[in-house]
Order: sequence, then C-alpha cells, then structure tokens
Amino acid sequence: MGKKFYKNGLRFKCQGSSKCCKSGKIDACVYLTLKDRRQIATHLGLSTLKFTKQYTAKTYGKFHLKQTKHDCPFLRTQSCRIYTVRPLQCRAWPFWPENMKCNSWKKIKRSCNGIGKGRLYRSEEIDRIIKELNEQK
Ligand code: SF4
Repeated sequence: MGKKFYKNGLRFKCQGSSKCCKSGKIDACVYLTLKDRRQIATHLGLSTLKFTKQYTAKTYGKFHLKQTKHDCPFLRTQSCRIYTVRPLQCRAWPFWPENMKCNSWKKIKRSCNGIGKGRLYRSEEIDRIIKELNEQK
C-alpha cells in the first residue's frame, strides 16, 4: 500500500456553513449508534424509544435520522439544534473513510471551506476516527 496522503496530518475547523447537513436532492443518511440515540434522546428530554420512533428510520438494519426535504431534521437556519450531542458521523466529518483517498479529499475540499483551516489532526488521530466510524458499520 502506498503512503497515506495525510501522513503529515490535515487541518480542519468547522466554518458553520452547514453544507454537510444538507444533502440537496440526494438521499443521504446520518447514521446513529446506540450511544448517539441515547445521548440525543436525553438532550431532547425524550426516552430513547420515543426519540427512535419520532426521529429515526431503519435501512438495511441501521438506524439513521429521518430527513426533512433531504436535509437533516435538526438543522435550524445554519445551525445544529443538537450540536453538543451531534452523532458520531457528524463529529467525524470530514474524516469519513470514503473521503480519505487523495482524489476524494481534493473533491470535498472544494465544497467544505473548513478543510485546511484550524488545528492539525495528526494521521494517528485521523486513523482513530476512521476506525471508530468503521466499527459503527
Ligand atoms: S445532526 Fe446536526 S451536525 Fe449532524 S447533520 Fe444534523 S444538523 Fe448537521
């Protein structure tokens, strides 16, 4: 396997564009771990069961947020209503496994202006995030 393009780390700081919370016309899913569902439910003052019934759907055996017109239901005019307890998938952006190929990274860099800004994530840290996301699958 060749050297990782991010062996010297990558910088990222969310600029609050909320572009990653909108899927446009595409049906994209925010998947949820059990921990995500429990934390968000508590944050909203709901039981995990009630939260799951009200806000989630299941596809191929995996829970995800129900979308509203293709956008995340927790997106409120540019900000996340559950930011402090947002799902792992959201916290892990932009270090998603599918983005961690040189060409894919160049592509998302064009649409996310937080990439290249902020603190440096070391390659080991990025690998940990990828591992955590892969374990969710
Ligand atoms: S949960 Fe919050 S951060 Fe995640 S997609 Fe929805 S609005 Fe965006």
